[in-house]
Amino acid sequence: MIKWGNLLAAPTRGINMRKKRDPMPPKYEGMHPESLMMSYGYVPAWSEGSVKPPIFQTSTFAFETAEEGKEFFQWAYGLKERDPDKPMGLIYSRLNNPDLEILEERLKLWDEAEASAVFSSGMSAISTSLLALVPIGEAVVFSRPIYGGTDLLLETILPERGIVTREFRARSEPEEVDAICEELKAAGTPAKVIFLETPANPTMCMTDIGGMAEVAHKHGALCLVDNTFMGPLYQKPLKHGADLVLYSATKYLGGHSDLVAGVALGSCELIERVKLYRTILGTMLEPFSAWLLMRSLETAKLRITCSRKNAEKIAAWLVEHPRVEKVHFPGLPDTARQKEIYEKQCTGPGGMLAFELRDAGEKEAFRFLNNVKLAKLAVSLGGTESLIEHPATMTHADVPVEEQEAIGITPALVRLSVGIEHPDDLISCLSYALDQIDTEEDDEAEVAVASHDEESS
Ligand code: PLP
Repeated sequence: MIKWGNLLAAPTRGINMRKKRDPMPPKYEGMHPESLMMSYGYVPAWSEGSVKPPIFQTSTFAFETAEEGKEFFQWAYGLKERDPDKPMGLIYSRLNNPDLEILEERLKLWDEAEASAVFSSGMSAISTSLLALVPIGEAVVFSRPIYGGTDLLLETILPERGIVTREFRARSEPEEVDAICEELKAAGTPAKVIFLETPANPTMCMTDIGGMAEVAHKHGALCLVDNTFMGPLYQKPLKHGADLVLYSATKYLGGHSDLVAGVALGSCELIERVKLYRTILGTMLEPFSAWLLMRSLETAKLRITCSRKNAEKIAAWLVEHPRVEKVHFPGLPDTARQKEIYEKQCTGPGGMLAFELRDAGEKEAFRFLNNVKLAKLAVSLGGTESLIEHPATMTHADVPVEEQEAIGITPALVRLSVGIEHPDDLISCLSYALDQIDTEEDDEAEVAVASHDEESS
């Protein structure tokens, strides 16, 4: 005979301890983010003493009582104010999941944000945030060049859905963007968001976050910054007045080229609005990638610092190389204004750079790329391994040629995401590939002469 009454009275552990916040996670006030990435927002007692948070690979969560289930739903749908001392109960993994919650707690620390939300990709973070924050008939003003997916979203997809978009060059001054916002206001389609990607992909030119945030606020708009390229160590847009920071966590935050994820960070009020759209669009991250990201965050400082140091050495070496025309690297600003912006908003140059080959077109650039052996010939960035690519024919292939020329994406430009290999090996690898451009040219010339001789004899 089954004793149903006894079963219902079985002792509760694990997840229930988390719900009661028993024990509470320590606060660790005043510590650096890297000290907290192994522990913040979690206590082993919640999960049988497991030092690492387990992967909560579940779609749904059991309520202890029907009353509890009712209360969680009332909170989730905003039908009843939540008692701030009671944690939000777990309901269903599209709404909430412990791995996502612990990860969101930790991500807040790098950008000193009040709240964060994690997404299934960088693009879902960007598109969900814009859909949540920009009503139909209002406008997004955005910097160019910008990541290709974001470009397509802003150029085609959002306008098809009734959102107005206007671009400006990444090097534009705040006054120029102010003028665009005035025009939009006069046209009855006011700016709701100024969207920046700085440094810009792939030309690395920087936009003044503080200046653009001021313009946004003057017009009652929000300033959103895609901080993927610099990563969270060397640029903290919220400190400069931005309202929301976005990341493709696929890059530096994930750092191992083995997951796809996105993040939005900002005030509790903004993140709550974005999270409502995330829940309904279903653009949240899944538990395994959230768990992988927590693993990655433990080494974020080490990895990103190493990439930056390597990039500084490589940039300094490339500048001196006779086969290199120009190096685009935030640490080597090309104008006084770029230097001013760099010093105002960055505390380091990051690990991304681009360079133009001298006297080269696509053929020479491909010859160089085909001879790079240590770095992988691949798009994406921010991983432990170096990645090299050709923006004109790869990441920015959909940008019309005239537009490519206008924003500085030439056939001779290559983009390098510097990894954590030994810098001497990376330099040796690049040196070999640069030498091959002319060696192969000589070989081709010899073959041509030989075949000409054969024909004439
Ligand atoms: N933002 C930037 C600057 C990117 O480079 C990318 C992707 O390369 C994205 C956003 C989109 O991120 P995801 O590929 O994770 O959707």
